[in-house]
Order: sequence, then C-alpha cells, then structure tokens
Amino acid sequence: MRRYAYRILLIIGLTAAASGPSAAAAAEPAVHVTVVRARALIDGTSAQPRPNPEIVIRGNRFTDVYTAGSRPAPAGAQLIDLGNATLLPGLIDCHTHIFLQGEVPEAGGYDIQLLKFPASYRVARAVVAARRALEQGFTTIRDVETEGAGYGDVGIKQAINEGYIPGPRMFVVTRAISSTGGYNLEGYAPEIQVPKGAQLIDGPVEARKAAREQLDHGADWIKVYMTHRSWVDKQGELASQPTLTTEELKAIVDEAHGWRRKVACHAYNGIGLQRALDGGCDSIEHGLEITDAQIAQMIRQGTWLVPTLSVYYYDPDPPDTPSGKRDRKRVAVHGVSFQKALRAGVKIAFGTDVGGFVWSDPIAQEFGREVEFGMTPMQAIQSATSRAAELLDMSGEIGRVAPGAYADLIAVEKDPLQDVAALKNVSFVMKDGSVFKSPAAARP
Ligand SMILES: [Zn+2]
Repeated sequence: MRRYAYRILLIIGLTAAASGPSAAAAAEPAVHVTVVRARALIDGTSAQPRPNPEIVIRGNRFTDVYTAGSRPAPAGAQLIDLGNATLLPGLIDCHTHIFLQGEVPEAGGYDIQLLKFPASYRVARAVVAARRALEQGFTTIRDVETEGAGYGDVGIKQAINEGYIPGPRMFVVTRAISSTGGYNLEGYAPEIQVPKGAQLIDGPVEARKAAREQLDHGADWIKVYMTHRSWVDKQGELASQPTLTTEELKAIVDEAHGWRRKVACHAYNGIGLQRALDGGCDSIEHGLEITDAQIAQMIRQGTWLVPTLSVYYYDPDPPDTPSGKRDRKRVAVHGVSFQKALRAGVKIAFGTDVGGFVWSDPIAQEFGREVEFGMTPMQAIQSATSRAAELLDMSGEIGRVAPGAYADLIAVEKDPLQDVAALKNVSFVMKDGSVFKSPAAARP
C-alpha cells in the first residue's frame, strides 16, 4: 500500500541523512516536491481563472502558485504537465450516502438494502462508492448517514485515512436521528420488528442521548430528519410530515455545539422546516420549498442550504398516482425555492444525495442543475469548493488552490466556465499530494 511505500522512503531518507555530514539534515527527511502545470487554474475563491499556472506541492500541501515562466520550478521537482487542461481544487460533495446504492425500484428499492444485504456486502459496496467519489474528482465528502448500516462510515473513513483503501476525506454523521413514525422501514405488519434507517427518539432526553452516543462513536456532524412523508394536499400544495419537536431538536443542537460539531437537518418545507430553523440547525438539506420569511431567518442565523437538486429528477412514479403527483410537485417547487434563496444571498453549498441515485451516474450532474436555476458556472464551482469548505469549517484547508491548503487538485480537459458539464469528465485527481488518477500523456 502507498502508506507503507511512503514509510520505507522515509526510513531510507533518514538513514541517508544520518550518515551524511550535516546533523541538521538528519532532522529533515526529504519531502517529495511536485509541480503541476496546465492551461488554466480555477482556484476556488478568485472570480477569474488564472492562465498558465504552475502549482508547487510539497508533501501534502500546496506551497506556491505562480505563472509558468515567471520563475524557475524548484530544483529536483517532479513535473506533471497537463497541457490544455483546466485545474481546480478537489471538489466537495456535502450530501452523500456511500452505504446506499440507489433506490432503483427494479433492484428492490430502499428496503432490500436493510432487509437482505449482509453488512459485509454493504461495506464492500461502500468501499466502491468511496473510490467512485474520488475518481470523479470529489476529494472530500460529508456523508450524511449510513441508512441502517450503523457506524460503518466511521470505519470506512479510518481505512481511507490510514491508506488501506482509496477514497475522499470524509466527514461522517453515523446513524442520523428521527422520531417514531419518522423514518423507513415502514409499511410492514405491526407485529413484525423491522430495522430502521435512522436512530428513532422521542423526547428531549432521548434526543440528547442519541446525539451523545453518535458523537461518542465518531460522528463529525449530527444529521436530523425534520420532515418525513410528503404528499400533495387538497389545495394542490406540497405537504410534509414534521418529525422532531423544536425542544427535541434544541437538545441535539445544544449537545452537538458543545462538542464544537454541527447539525445538518433534512427538511422539505412547512412546520418541519420551521422547527429546523427555530431549533438552530446549521444546514438545511434539500429545502424544497422555503418561504420568504424562512429565507430571511436563514440569512439572519447564517444557516446553510444544501439543495440536492438532481436526485428529485430520478424515477418519478406514474403521474396519475398520489406518489407520482408528489414526485412532480417536488421538482416544480424546488428550483423556484433555490432561485429565491440564491437571489436573497442564502449561503449555498454543493450536495447531491448520491447513493439516493446510483454511484455509476455522474455526481457532477448537479452543477448543471445549479446553473439551470441561476448560478453562474463560477458560483456553482465555488459552491463545491471554497463555499463547501466554509460549511465544513475547513476554510483555507480544502476547496482552494493556495499556499497552505491540502494538495487536493483535479483537472478537466474542457473549460467548465463554458460548460459545467465538463466537470463530469475529470482526467486527473490528486488528493493530499498523492496522484490517484492521471491521463496517460502526463504519466512519467
Ligand atoms: Zn440524503
């Protein structure tokens, strides 16, 4: 594994230095230096791309960015020339589910994953999903619950960090929290005990205890479901069932904030969305239909929106069925709500709900939806780079190409500012200073 190779290099470096004349050199093992060159750089924060960049990477950090030819490249550096490509920071998806493999009706939908898949099989497929994220240029994900797979995300994250499997940096939420009647599996005979996709609580005491358990077992964030079932009501409006009370949510938020962690709240609209805001959620997931007053409250409180637009276009039920009408109504209100939030200045971070759709589909399809509903291509890119980093309290560390940040770098062959669909074809991926994927022409 890469990790061991790295350790061996370190030992050789130390041995060589120790036998040399300088004692100072012994304390400083040789650091691998790479220079990446391409046609343009979108750095994640600047309004304009930078032409002909050269980016210096020492170890796992960016140390310098300058225009090619303006100075000599550092001596002894490995050069990676990506020709006409455009470089960007590694992308960040703030709403993924590596333990979900689409909810494809022909493949048994959601329920089969909890009822028939062995835990080992779910882990094996989560490992593949993590690799899929990385090869598509997503070097960081916030994975917002394992859907009945317990604390499986904590172990996957550890295996990635220790170099045993390839994958993105992960922020994990573990089990997520909802209330009785507030999450799948459901619709089974009441006499039969079925597993639930989230930890169900009732009352502020149980709510706080669930948050404590999850934080104790490694949750970086807490995920709460504030709405569950949804349907079209007699007036033709989207209605959604609220789950936790404001008091229950406040207990969770208070606990999480004490640990300096944040709370992501799944909320469609109505009472549940209002409780999410009144209870102090840090990010609203989906936010299908946000009123003007709620938008104003989000701005006042600094609440983020993680919209996940694309997933709602998948597999609508037949149009003349209640669920089919619901599916179409969700799409109809979501884009309008996104546009209003964007215009009003709500903080928006990129999220897709991949896992809700299959991992073989392009995660980057979400950029096209963001642009369709009013973002510029640069805004869309920043929603998945510097803005997402801000949501994750990682500003300056990820989501930008600048000295000091982790060396997470990708390249696309076509200009994504002309067409954001270019982001579906990532040709080069570096994470933490190590090249994971590279076009044949750039390989040494
Ligand atoms: Zn989700």
